[in-house]
Amino acid sequence: MARHIAVCLSFDFDAISIWVGPMRAQSPSAISRGEFGKVGTHRLLEVLQRHQVPATWFIPGHTIDTFPDLVKRIADAGHEIGHHGYCHENPTSVPVEEERRILERGIACIQRITGKAPLGYRSPAWDLSPASVSLLLEYGFLYDSSLMADDFTPYYCRVGDLARTDGPYVFGREVDLVELPVDWSLDDWPYFGLHWPARHVGLRSPEEVYRIWSADFDFLYQRLGEGVFTLTMHPQVIGRGHRLLMLERLIEYMKSHEGVTFKTMGDVATEWKLAHPLERKEEAQG
Ligand SMILES: [Zn+2]
Repeated sequence: MARHIAVCLSFDFDAISIWVGPMRAQSPSAISRGEFGKVGTHRLLEVLQRHQVPATWFIPGHTIDTFPDLVKRIADAGHEIGHHGYCHENPTSVPVEEERRILERGIACIQRITGKAPLGYRSPAWDLSPASVSLLLEYGFLYDSSLMADDFTPYYCRVGDLARTDGPYVFGREVDLVELPVDWSLDDWPYFGLHWPARHVGLRSPEEVYRIWSADFDFLYQRLGEGVFTLTMHPQVIGRGHRLLMLERLIEYMKSHEGVTFKTMGDVATEWKLAHPLERKEEAQG
């Protein structure tokens, strides 16, 4: 069978925002871990250029304001820039008006760099508040990339779900916001991250992670034959030498397969939406 696989390399360039934001770090040592994201980003830009593959970068406004020249370099290299909060705020932890303000501030930061509003949103911590999907629609987003109800197949987000315990879960109405799903097993932070006191100790071997990620790719390629393979990585994590070499090996492995194309998530969402218009889907269901 002919294969149609899109590979989306996505990088959440949290940098210092995640340390001074949700982790409330004050120590220069903790903050410097985020600062390393700058080094990782320089290396990743070189890798992406050498392999001639586009990527999608979800960048908090805080990172854009802290490293504007570097973020401009990312955009100038032809990569997509998506929304990732201002200072890595979890939408479930702020009132809805604050969520709106953060959304607007992040959009303005991206517009200052690219001249355009972002197409995509990835929630910090992959959490969405009950208002998030409606807000993303209101601000004209094409897609979200924070949910996990599928692995390699995009789908439409919903509003109006009803979570109850005295009866079945009630699914709401599909809306015009494409979901490009993610998963913790396809994220570099759980495997490699480390947090003291030992709340989380990753530091796994890149060899082990290569086996997991390439096996998921093999399943998609061999069993499904069609879909989107999305990896979520962080410059401050994947940018370490041994991990970067693993990523390069994986890029080469995936590139060696016929029918595999590296794309930005905006391009994938645009193509998927054209091929699966929401109205026709609703009619088919009705
Ligand atoms: Zn993040």
